[in-house]
Amino acid sequence: MRDTELYQQLLGLHDPWTVTNVELNAAAGRVDVWVEDRSGAKWNCPECGKKASVYDHSEERIWRHLNTCQFGTYIHARLPRVTCPEHGVRQVSAPWAEPGSRFTLLFENRIITILKECDVTGATHLGGTGWHEAWSVMDKAVHRGRSRKEKRIPDYLGIDEKSFAKRYRYETVVCDLTRGTVECVLEDRKQESLEGYYKQFSKEELHGIKAVAMDMWDPYMAATKEFVPDAQKKIVFDRFHVIRQVTEAVDQVRRHEHKLLMAQGEEFLKGTKHLWLMNKEHIPEWRKGEFEEIRKMKLKTARAWAIKESLRHLWDYRYPKNAAKYFKRWYFWATHSRLKPMIKAAKTLKGHLPNILTYFKHRITNAVSEGLNSKIQTIKQMACGFRNRDHYRTAILFHCGGLDLYARVSSYTGSSLDTTTCSMAHAKA
Ligand SMILES: [Zn+2]
Repeated sequence: MRDTELYQQLLGLHDPWTVTNVELNAAAGRVDVWVEDRSGAKWNCPECGKKASVYDHSEERIWRHLNTCQFGTYIHARLPRVTCPEHGVRQVSAPWAEPGSRFTLLFENRIITILKECDVTGATHLGGTGWHEAWSVMDKAVHRGRSRKEKRIPDYLGIDEKSFAKRYRYETVVCDLTRGTVECVLEDRKQESLEGYYKQFSKEELHGIKAVAMDMWDPYMAATKEFVPDAQKKIVFDRFHVIRQVTEAVDQVRRHEHKLLMAQGEEFLKGTKHLWLMNKEHIPEWRKGEFEEIRKMKLKTARAWAIKESLRHLWDYRYPKNAAKYFKRWYFWATHSRLKPMIKAAKTLKGHLPNILTYFKHRITNAVSEGLNSKIQTIKQMACGFRNRDHYRTAILFHCGGLDLYARVSSYTGSSLDTTTCSMAHAKA
């Protein structure tokens, strides 16, 4: 078999494309492959698809392809330009690449696979591309995935805020709680931010939302009430966020008491901060004894902690009526604790009680999106080099969007070269 024929088959090229020349430069570690179109071949106008004849050929272009053994492989071609009676002179695109790309589809898919496994810098080392090139592959993959994605609103939504870069800058992350994916990332955490998401959908589609889990954050509530019919019955305050509010109150009690104790030279509470923030069952074995001892000392902090722990049982109830009764008792206890932060937290919760109790109808939490949040945290750490918010959003959607990211390559290669099962599956579908 001649080298040109070998590459014709390796690349899976069909008429009118033929490999006309192959050069190996072992010293430079590369294989260059020249591809030409058959003269007299029939083309279609890329705009309207009607038959069009060749006008001329554009300058030679080079595409980076998958390696041949250890050698970087490059495809060279001059793409024909055709003339259409209606659209004039138009550039025909190469079947092995997307217009404007310097990589073949298979190479892009390889980079996508690498990017899924490591950060952008790692991908540049493993894939042999530049930083910006790897980013543009990620960006294109996300665009591809989003354009393929069916436009529909999830039944169960999770709305979460996420800080970006400096603490006072936020993003709103909208999740599909059923699929466990990020639907979109919106700038800021204002009412308008979330409204921007709802606005894409018709009244009827919005009607289909069954429930929305969220933090007790007024702008999210306002946006949801504005757009989602029957929002009052559908908003569910995330139980973990509710508990967090009370846990923060416990921490305030501890800080205040610790200060007073220290002023008297007592150090009982020193180094105990995290014990009071933990759920009872999460306190490490080796600190349990110490923790029990402090709890017996009748400190205010221990009382606040007990109030917090008992609130957690609220979500064990099956029926909202019983849960409401339990809350009433809990509320009485918390508000008679003479612990200001606890009283304040209890009052906040009481003000929001109807949408805490909606949990018993819908039984959703943001735990899914909290899980995604920790994934997002990893993404953030992986790419300290996020140069802007767009990159941050792109990376979140790339890793957590559940998108179909791969370029479809079967059209020109058959499936023999398609090593990515993902794109193959979709090509068949
Ligand atoms: Zn045309």
